[in-house]
Amino acid sequence: MADTAQVARILIRGGRLYDHDGDVHQPSLTDILIGGERIERIGPNLPAEGDVEVIDATGKLVVPGFVNAHYHSHDVMAKGLFEEMPFDIWTLHSNPANYGPRTLKEVRLRTLVGAAESLRNGITTIQDFLTLVPQDDTIVDTVLAAYEEAGIRVVFAVAARDRAALDIAPFIPKDLPEAIRKRIAGSDRKAKDELDFIAAQIRRLGKNPTPRQTWALAPSAPQRCSQELLEGISALSRDHGLPVFTHVYETRIQAAAARQQPSAPSLLDVLARAGLMNERLNIVHGVWLTAHDIAQIAEAGARVVHNPVSNLKLKSGIAPILDLHRAGVDIALGCDNYSCAETQNIFLAMRMLCLLPAVTDPEPGPINAAYALKAATLSGARAVGLSNKIGALKPGMAADLMILDLKEPAFVPFNSAARQIVFSEAGRAVETVLVDGRPVVRNSKLVTVDEAALAAEVEEIAPAFRRDAQALAARNADLTTPLLNASREAWKIPLGFERYIGRGTR
Ligand SMILES: [Zn+2]
Repeated sequence: MADTAQVARILIRGGRLYDHDGDVHQPSLTDILIGGERIERIGPNLPAEGDVEVIDATGKLVVPGFVNAHYHSHDVMAKGLFEEMPFDIWTLHSNPANYGPRTLKEVRLRTLVGAAESLRNGITTIQDFLTLVPQDDTIVDTVLAAYEEAGIRVVFAVAARDRAALDIAPFIPKDLPEAIRKRIAGSDRKAKDELDFIAAQIRRLGKNPTPRQTWALAPSAPQRCSQELLEGISALSRDHGLPVFTHVYETRIQAAAARQQPSAPSLLDVLARAGLMNERLNIVHGVWLTAHDIAQIAEAGARVVHNPVSNLKLKSGIAPILDLHRAGVDIALGCDNYSCAETQNIFLAMRMLCLLPAVTDPEPGPINAAYALKAATLSGARAVGLSNKIGALKPGMAADLMILDLKEPAFVPFNSAARQIVFSEAGRAVETVLVDGRPVVRNSKLVTVDEAALAAEVEEIAPAFRRDAQALAARNADLTTPLLNASREAWKIPLGFERYIGRGTR
């Protein structure tokens, strides 16, 4: 489309610029000159010389683009299909392996839908932790092409695991029928195959498949990976300088199961033994971290990616955000996948980040609106390994930003940029979005993708996905009660701390 063509320069004129280090409540008026992908100058009354497109930002607020540091694009088509349910039951309904291969058309469309919602909500960088079924070059190419088509920045990771058993497997009663036990155990894969596939993709597509695309590594969870696989991931991370994302202690059952293994009492020790406990590591969820775990994460300079919505929808509990913050652990934000969180919306994640500490601590605390905005931008940038490029709007940084319309009800009257972004806004005020200096949203519409045509194409393939989901639910029916019973047994195991408020006292 003609209006997506890169002009030589863009001048954003007369807006308020959200600066983490400035007045976060009444940001000052300034102009921003963008040349190519980068911010060239920031200051009042910059001249519009030469081939410059002027974007009038009078009455508007310019904010750094958000980083969604945890997302899986594999189940966009499952949006709205499931009620809230415990993690171990949800896994049965959402595991990509249970759906089998999808068409490349579906892969492209689902990737575009996730990217489109993200951009409309001011997310300019997304970390996609993608399970490929099967692991195949063409799926990687299709996904990366769709992200490029949408114009979003992506930090792409192929999920790796070689141990197939469900996390709850240690608590499954021995007297269950063999057929059911087999399905819970799954079939293991080879560490070498997982590692070879990932290394081959990085070799094939290069360090930057496109200027907006970089890599991350994604061992699914310590308990789902052999030592060999974790060590291989660690070597790839070290050799290529890549960030690592892994699910750790998302659920109480995972914490209880780890304690049942005499050889591996702590999943963080498992990561440390593989050489992964360092500043490139991102602990995803971290709901059931102990005080000792938190100190270990702080000591390593690793980070936690907080996913408040999926933690609640899957009944995983409330992450110890205040304790992490007090220990000096950096916290980024994720929206997680559609089957367990339904929306890619960092405004919502920031709001929950700020509100959830109240369930354990009645005192005023440090997790305020300006902090949440840093988590959504600067911490996210550090998580995905792009802290020299994105997260703040300064000369030399990439022009990844959103322009919010302050005439929207969420900002009237305009008392505080930070507080109203976090507590009032939900995405409706996002009028313009730039990624790498390129306008991808204008007048609250994507300019890279025809959203109406996309919706129509998705509706065409949706019935087939729904049929597959229903067939899977039918196959899962005989597993639900045994898994719930096993969960109840596991929940009884004392951990010495709780993340469910008031559990056992009512
Ligand atoms: Zn996840």
